[in-house]
Amino acid sequence: MAAAFSWIRPEPWGLHVVPADFWIDPARPVDSALVTHGHADHARGGHGLTIATPETLAIMGVRYGVAEGAQAALYGERVPLGNGVHATFVSAGHVLGSAQILLEHAGERIVVTGDYKRAADPTCMPFAVTPCDLFVTEATFGLPVFKHPPIEQEIARLLEARRANPDRAILVGAYALGKAQRLIAELRRAGHNEPIYLHGAMERMCRLYEELGVPLGDLQLVAGMPKGALAGQIVVCPPSALNDRWSRRLPEPINAMASGWMQVRQRARQKNVELPLVISDHADWQALTDTIAEVNPAETWITHGREEALLRWCQLGQRRARALALVGYEDEDD
Ligand SMILES: [Zn+2]
Ligand SMILES: [Zn+2]
Repeated sequence: MAAAFSWIRPEPWGLHVVPADFWIDPARPVDSALVTHGHADHARGGHGLTIATPETLAIMGVRYGVAEGAQAALYGERVPLGNGVHATFVSAGHVLGSAQILLEHAGERIVVTGDYKRAADPTCMPFAVTPCDLFVTEATFGLPVFKHPPIEQEIARLLEARRANPDRAILVGAYALGKAQRLIAELRRAGHNEPIYLHGAMERMCRLYEELGVPLGDLQLVAGMPKGALAGQIVVCPPSALNDRWSRRLPEPINAMASGWMQVRQRARQKNVELPLVISDHADWQALTDTIAEVNPAETWITHGREEALLRWCQLGQRRARALALVGYEDEDD
């Protein structure tokens, strides 16, 4: 008897859909790729054919320039890949355009989640639970210790720090794709309607989100602003700018950072973060285990993060599971 799901094969640089010769989020250039979302560890340039959602293709266009061989797949559209394999992109709730990929072949259904979260996010479509035989889940925060608080609580802490420090700028490090826009949209939802200031590196992705229908309110560039005008203002920058010379143009900035890793105190200290905001675009432990239970697949493959604890959890629950060792996935996004 052939091994179950032998038509999808984990290789070190990605998942290979063998009969159609497609790769999912390959870490090196291939002829035919399916890309779950625009983060750099999933979306790379240089493939012959790239199938992704229109939003992901637009994000890749901003990052890599317009690619030859880009083919858009709408959420829910069943795309033939050849040799009896079909792919359907299903929303993953991670960042704008992010998708799980449902593969169907020979009567079997495989869902590859890419990165995902279950918490609500005003900047993207929610995760859709999709029944399948094999569920390939990410495990970035796959330890019971990881628990992401409600985002409203973290936004309230940020606004409170601003109120308490009218003479200082609040400088928030956030990844340029997804985290920055979610942070801004949540500040708007909390009633913060004043201008939010951006490091130049954040501008293009914020504009693209707005073009794709995600309103972010009044955004201004820090460049050219007199230092004093930024007292009491919220400034969003890439995490790498928190501790570089660039931040000296701000009045006594309070360094904040929006990341799931901010739950780890040592990480916050390392990055000199005074105001750690635990805001993640991934599922935490509870959401990972709830999702596996809800999808209830015959088999689960675990990849992209801390695989051992989730593997053990599956085994204790009599769930068939296996940890994959794929390379090239670093948390650009968290
Ligand atoms: Zn990722
Ligand atoms: Zn991601």
